[in-house]
This record gives sequence, structure tokens and C-alpha cells, in this order.
Amino acid sequence: MAKKQFKAESKRLLELMINSIYTHKEIFLRELISNASDAMDKLYYKSMTENLGLTRGEFEINIIPDKEARTLTITDNGIGMTKDELEKNLGVIAQSGTLKFKDDIAENGNVDASKPDTSDDISVIGQFGVGFYSAFMVAKKVIVSSKQYGAEDAFVWTSEGADGYTINSCDMDSYGTSITLYIKENTDDERYEEFLEQYRIKNLIGKYSDYIRYPIKMEMKSSKLIEGTEDSENPEYEDVIETKTLNSMVPVWKKNKSELKDEDYHNFYKDKFNDFTEPQMIIHDKTEGGATYSALMFIPKKAPFDYYTKEYEKGLQLYSSGVMIMEKCGDLLPDHFSFVKGLVDSEDLSLNISREMLQHDRQLKVIAKSIDRSVRNELKKMLNNDREKYTEFWGAFGTQLKFGVYNGFGANSDVLKDLLVFNSSFCEDDNKNNKNKQEKQKLTTLAEYVARMKENQEAIYYAAGDTIARIDSLPQVETLKDKGFEVLYLIENVDEFCLQMLAQYNDKPFKSIQSADVDVADESEKDEIKRINDESKSLLAVMKEALGEKVAEVKVSKRLKSHPVCLTSSGLLTTQMEKVLSAMPTDNQAKADKVLEINSGHPIFDKLQFLYDNDKDKLKVYADILYNQALLIEGMAVENPADFVRDMCGLMV
Ligand code: ADP
Repeated sequence: MAKKQFKAESKRLLELMINSIYTHKEIFLRELISNASDAMDKLYYKSMTENLGLTRGEFEINIIPDKEARTLTITDNGIGMTKDELEKNLGVIAQSGTLKFKDDIAENGNVDASKPDTSDDISVIGQFGVGFYSAFMVAKKVIVSSKQYGAEDAFVWTSEGADGYTINSCDMDSYGTSITLYIKENTDDERYEEFLEQYRIKNLIGKYSDYIRYPIKMEMKSSKLIEGTEDSENPEYEDVIETKTLNSMVPVWKKNKSELKDEDYHNFYKDKFNDFTEPQMIIHDKTEGGATYSALMFIPKKAPFDYYTKEYEKGLQLYSSGVMIMEKCGDLLPDHFSFVKGLVDSEDLSLNISREMLQHDRQLKVIAKSIDRSVRNELKKMLNNDREKYTEFWGAFGTQLKFGVYNGFGANSDVLKDLLVFNSSFCEDDNKNNKNKQEKQKLTTLAEYVARMKENQEAIYYAAGDTIARIDSLPQVETLKDKGFEVLYLIENVDEFCLQMLAQYNDKPFKSIQSADVDVADESEKDEIKRINDESKSLLAVMKEALGEKVAEVKVSKRLKSHPVCLTSSGLLTTQMEKVLSAMPTDNQAKADKVLEINSGHPIFDKLQFLYDNDKDKLKVYADILYNQALLIEGMAVENPADFVRDMCGLMV
């Protein structure tokens, strides 16, 4: 059969693999063993559900190193692959992920084979699950023979790397898969030969594959004392070859926490969930409340590359008494914790349960509820005990929690509100003073904010904008800070929607300081503002008329200190929310009711009064320029840049 080419993306990845951007070549073995174990899981499950009569004890993986031939063979008696499956599974890499991977290259250009050593490359590929392809890190040629359970014919897939592969018929006595690696020649830096040494293999299996629930066997040679010679002057030894099982076969989640080191959890996580980085958090639960189950869950350090896309599928692996019955059970995880990876093993679930029935399973609901609670508690603990770590977690998944508050009309807002953290004027000042840049950005919880509130403070104030620096320099912020109020700084699109959904925290309402009705003026200031507004009524009316529908109101305010103008809004919808909504790919034309506020203490106010008396046409131009300037301060686009520039220039010449 003619040689077939790998699909373009696979080829690219394969080249990266072969050129070994990957620092841990040794993981190839755990990847192949893990595939073998999956294949046996599949067959065992099939046997259980279709009464094929196979027993668990029949399944095994064999490792056969051959130093002379320089080959390492891994066999399994799992479900095997048909010709089509060999083609589909080994000719292309993880279909759905591939596209995204390509996008990533196009967008960031960060996967570049010519500079293969950046950690970004590694994390992209890591999230991708290199699996089978990792074989090419140590092998110059790979042969996969496979016969599917129940099929007549067997096929062999052969490839020497990026230039393609062939598939031919072959003979196999029994079902299963056998993978033979032709180990690369040693180089100055790498002794590939080590992967043929029995103790190295034994160590690798202990390190990465101990929990695999089928025996991993290998013939091991050792020297044994010949019986009867032990007391003689020259005890004699002979070489014996014994088949040994190299793994303990106890799944990690069934072990006691006290038996497990972080490293054990980390290795398990990396293997099972295709991540190169250690998890941010490990949650190992055994039986809680009304359901009997063990759960082993992880929160990744970084969001997977496709996390905030539609392609991402949440879920935990579901086992029934040690047998995997579902790869991704979405019902076990609430959307707000969709980033959690892991598995649940329960004795209370039937093996034969179908997906449809599972959705209605009462037991499953009980488990899901207790998982939700458990993740929440662990996060709360981290928030209280290790703020730096929590900040890192927040960077990766905070957005998801805020969506969690907002979604479902706030159904989960009560249980999530104490997990929220924000930047604020208080934290920002602290961060600015903190010379040691190593330290993480400080963030505040809502409870901490409330505890710091001034005695007469009625609301929790917030301001929204594109960056912290921008918000920090907003005219409104300046005044509030001057009066000693703390302001939450919202820089994510979802933030304001999230707070509006919460409406209040501990009976303190949230208030946008970009909204017109926020007033931190004291009584005498209020009287003065009222007086100036009354006196300037006709001036303000001319300006409002000039601006037409663009603004709901033009008024004089005391909330400004050094800035001439600012923009606030009088309805529920703020200008920042308008910005978010108009950036969405819908024809949502929702507009905020904007209020142009003018600083009565600024020289521009005198000028406006002068123009009112002497040149009303010019006053209209000024109104427009000031409105556009206020838009700019808010981080919004000027409505008609050409007109704006023309008017500005008109004033300059
Ligand atoms: P992943 O395991 O992450 O899906 P791999 O590249 O490791 O990706 O494997 C691709 C696919 O090839 C697997 O999903 C599986 O269907 C198939 N496969 C790999 N190894 C075996 C095996 N030993 N027996 C049966 N199928 C296998």
C-alpha cells in the first residue's frame, strides 16, 4: 500500500514532537500504557454490558524490551482497532482540538518549530494530549499491529515519523494491540538505550503507571542463589527469568490520603488529564453524606486553551466500582465549576445505566450536589488561607465564577458571592506602594470591602473600565477617593452584570459611581450644586439641545475635582455595559441614558457662561467637544472622529 500523508496539523505536531520540545521523553511509556488500559476498559465494559463472558483477570499489558533488536514492545488484549480506526486514530490527532490548535498558531504565532523551546509551546501541546505520538520522541519507527475484538482480520500500521504511514494486513492470533518502538540511536545528549533497560522501565511504571488497574507485566532477569550452595565457601548464583507485575493496581482514588504524596497526585493528574503543569488544587473526597463514592478532582493551574470556547466540554469521569462507565459526565459538575477535572467512583451506580437514565438518577444528583459543596469549601479555604494562590486561580477561572453568579438569573449567586474577589482603590494604592513587584496583585473580597466601609457609607461603590489604570484616573474616582471611600475596579465585561445580579451584599447595595444618582456630597455641597444648576438652567438647556439624543441630561456637578467633565448614566444600564453589549455579535442597540456632568469649579465653566452670553453657536460646538472628551475619558469611541478633529482644530488655529 502506498504511503499516506498525515493530515497537515498532525504533521506539524509530529515534527515538534520529534524535535523534542518536550523535556520529559520518558512520559511516552505512560501514554502508551494509558492507551492500552483504556482499550481494556472499553472491552471489559462491552463484555459486562453485552455478556461476552470476559473476566477482569484476563486482561493484561506486557512490556517486552529487546536490547539486541533495539525494540520495545507494548501489548494489550483490549478492544483493538479496525483498519479504519487505525487510520482515523493514528493518522489524525484529536480531531476537535486540532482546529483550535491551528488557530492558536495563527493567532499567537507561538508554536514555531524553529524556536521550539518556549514553555508556551509546551503548554499548548500539553493541553492537546499528545498521547500516542509521544512514541516518536524515543522511536525512529513505530509499528502498531491491531485486531479488533470479534473481527476476522488484523492490520499493521507503520510509520517512521513525519513523512507518513502505511497500513497493511497482518496475522494476529488474538484480539488486542501490540506497539513496537524502534528505539533511536544514542546521541551526545540522550541515551535512548535506557528505555530498554528493565530497571529503568520498572521505575517508570512505578512512577507514572502504578495505579493502572490491569497488571503490567514484564519478564525480569535476576541472579538467584542456587539452593544448597548458600553455606558453601563459594555460594553459586544463576540467572533466572520471572514474569513480574510492575504496578500495584490500586487506583489512586481508592488509596488513603495518608499513603499519597503530592507527587503521586501530580503524576496521576498529568497523565490522565494531559496537562504538563501541576494542578493548582487537589480535592480527594471519600463518601460524604447520603452517597457512597470517592472523588478525585483537580483544578488546573491554567485555563485549557479552549476553556472559554463553545468546544470545551465540562464533566468528570464516572466509574462504577472501578469500571469506567462514562468519559465525561457533565451532570456531575455545575457550570460555575466547569474547570474542575477529575473522576467519581461510586458503588451505587449500575454499570448498565444509559446516558439518558443517568440524567435522572437520584444518586447522581446527590453526588453532584456534594461535589459542588466540596469544591466550594476547598476554594473558600484557599481564599482564606492562601490569597496568593487564590489570585492565581482567579486569574485563570475567576471569569467563570462571575458568569456563574450572573447565569440562571442569579440562582447560584448566593453560594458564589463569597468566592468573588475584585481589585479596588484600596488594593490599588497598596499595590502601588508595594515595591516588591514579585508579590501578586492584591484583591479584595466583598466581605473585606464591607468591613472597611466608612460609618456613613450607604453603598458599595464600583467603577468599570478597560484597565485598572484607566479606572484609577477616572474623574469620579478621584473625588470618591478624596472623601475616603473605597471603589471596586471592574475590568471584565461580565463584572457589572454580575454585580447587578447580586444587587446587594450584606444589605449594602452596589452602586456604579459612573451613574448619575451617586452622590457623596454633604448637605452644604448639595445645596450649592442645586443653586448653581438652577442659575445655569438656560445655559445647560442650550447644551442639551445641541447634543440632542446623545445625552439624557447636562448638569453641573461637584463630583469632579481636576477634570472638566465626566459622563455618567441615569438608568440601570451604564455606559460600560453599553460598550459590552454593543461589542456583542447581536443587533442589541441598548443605549445607556448618558448624563454629561460639568465641573463648576473648572475654568471651562466660566468660558461656557461667557459663550452663552456672547456666542451661542460656539457654545454648541463646545458642548459637542466636551461630550466627546467625556466619552474618551470613559474609554469609549468618539462618535464622529472627523467632526471632532475638525472642531478641535477650529479652536487651535
Ligand atoms: P488519546 O488517547 O488522548 O485519545 P492518542 O493519540 O493516545 O490520543 O490515541 C488516539 C486513539 O487511538 C485513542 O483514542 C484510541 O481510540 C486509539 N488507540 C490508541 N492506542 C490504542 C490501543 N492500545 N488499543 C486500542 N486503541 C488505541
